[in-house]
Amino acid sequence: MPNYEYGCLDCRKRVVIYQRYEDYGRIPVHCPFCGNQNLKRLISRVRFARSEDSRLDSMADPSTWGDIDESDPRSIARFMRKMGSEFGEDLPPEFDEVVDRLDAGESPEEIEKDMPELGGADSGFLE
Ligand SMILES: [Zn+2]
Repeated sequence: MPNYEYGCLDCRKRVVIYQRYEDYGRIPVHCPFCGNQNLKRLISRVRFARSEDSRLDSMADPSTWGDIDESDPRSIARFMRKMGSEFGEDLPPEFDEVVDRLDAGESPEEIEKDMPELGGADSGFLE
């Protein structure tokens, strides 16, 4: 079953939701933290093709993500590196560049301006 990464616009958490392809976009998804349906897809081009359950389970548990300070690009970069190491394959080529630029202190907004293909409006969550 594929998983879809969302950002909750209400409680500002990242959530990973498992859904069947045929349900995606048809069945409303709920934030597991606050229960609202105000979820936006994050970086839609990042597909997690790996299906080893233990890895997916570990990523689905927010307690394993560590502290993410979304106002700190370096914190986001750390999170993305961790995510990238969990899902070492099938990452888009721009993934490394984004992480490097975040790590250099660039804001997600600046990076998205240069790389609109990252997901456009979806990524407004990272404001
Ligand atoms: Zn929420």
